[in-house]
Amino acid sequence: MKCIYCANRKTEVINSREIKGGTLTWRRRRCPNCAKIFTTKESGMADNLFVIKRNGSRQRFIYEKLFVSIFIIVNTGKNRDNGDDAKLAKKISARILKKLFVAAESRDIKSKILIALAYEELKKVHRSYADRYIAYSDYRLKVTFPGQQK
Ligand SMILES: [Zn+2]
Repeated sequence: MKCIYCANRKTEVINSREIKGGTLTWRRRRCPNCAKIFTTKESGMADNLFVIKRNGSRQRFIYEKLFVSIFIIVNTGKNRDNGDDAKLAKKISARILKKLFVAAESRDIKSKILIALAYEELKKVHRSYADRYIAYSDYRLKVTFPGQQK
């Protein structure tokens, strides 16, 4: 895994343990280039998941992408505590991930199923989160950025 500070290609694992009932592996990593230490939560199972987009393209599932999209939804308004929101986003993302493994057929998951699962989990926390997620996902699916293949 790349260093999050200097983007050095290799980092050393100095400590690790399984969390969330084995769905995630917590790893303490050290970069030999800049000597900085950071923590990752990696999912071996998630590494083998692929998302089938509406246009039929197949992309590797990235847990961090899911986490960021959930964080954006829950981190709303002024005077929000980023740490609290990150904790909530992690909790929701972990729940979605668990359901993804169940729903995935031979490692492939349709993007609309991923969105439906995320919607369901967000709705349990707050209805407005679910609605915001759908609006955001719809936008993401429709927009093609310059240089991006359709
Ligand atoms: Zn580094």
